[in-house]
Amino acid sequence: MSPRPLVLVTGGSRGIGAATARLAAARGYDVAINYAGNRAAAEATAEACRAAGARAELFQGDMALDADIARVFREVDERMGRIDALVNNAGITGLASRLDEADPAEIRRVVDINVTGAILVAREAVRRMAPRHGGTGGSIVNLSSAAVRLGAPDTYVWYAASKGAIDSLTIGLAREVGVDGVRVNAVAPGLIETDIHDSAGLFGRLAQHGPSVPLKRSGSAEEVAKVILFLLSEEASYVTGAIYDVTGGR
Ligand code: NAP
Repeated sequence: MSPRPLVLVTGGSRGIGAATARLAAARGYDVAINYAGNRAAAEATAEACRAAGARAELFQGDMALDADIARVFREVDERMGRIDALVNNAGITGLASRLDEADPAEIRRVVDINVTGAILVAREAVRRMAPRHGGTGGSIVNLSSAAVRLGAPDTYVWYAASKGAIDSLTIGLAREVGVDGVRVNAVAPGLIETDIHDSAGLFGRLAQHGPSVPLKRSGSAEEVAKVILFLLSEEASYVTGAIYDVTGGR
């Protein structure tokens, strides 16, 4: 029996990360699930992965913190082995407001997780995947956002800016590590049905904005997960440095 490939999903306890972990398990991956604080949600995701026949383990760690990022990758090495794939998904928006009303500490926290953390997570992944570090290649999918194009005025322009950095990371790293057999792509979701909107204080946002999407509705986390799994897979063997909109045309 050939071993199942191993994928690490950061922020895999809820939302898009959880849907991706579940679909990866169904598609034959073993799954390392990182979460920040919601252990119960992480456990539920892991149970669903196990029910699909995967090995699934939990790795608590704050993906804004250098030490936690390094520790999570070490623990994945020790408990599950070398990763073949990474879904660089952990992210937050901060509370919605105009920029001039936003809390500087919260803006810094968003950038720490969405930008610095995501870059350090990608760094650790390349250090497992690239042949120069003993790896055999791999595939990375970063989480961008339609906010990069829309700018998110009156909502969270700092978040849009943080996701712009993810696009640059995707393009640059793809060009850098193509030689190592590592593909790097991103998905840019639009209005997706997860907790992130309530967490930003934007209650009712999906119902309010869904009808203005060309496909006339918000999207599900599962619809994003399908595109992520495509990009991770051999079906996308000649795709790297790409940023895929999953926005219903928004
Ligand atoms: P969500 O439902 O709010 O879930 C966030 C996930 O990230 C949770 O698993 C959470 O863990 C984890 N997380 C948060 N902070 C973390 C940290 N410091 N370290 C590790 N994990 C952390 O969010 P989502 O909507 O699924 O968003 C996932 C990604 O998609 C984000 O990068 C987001 O920016 C992007 N995105 C989402 C949308 C959308 O409409 N939903 C649109 C565009 C892009 P706990 O459960 O432990 O808190």
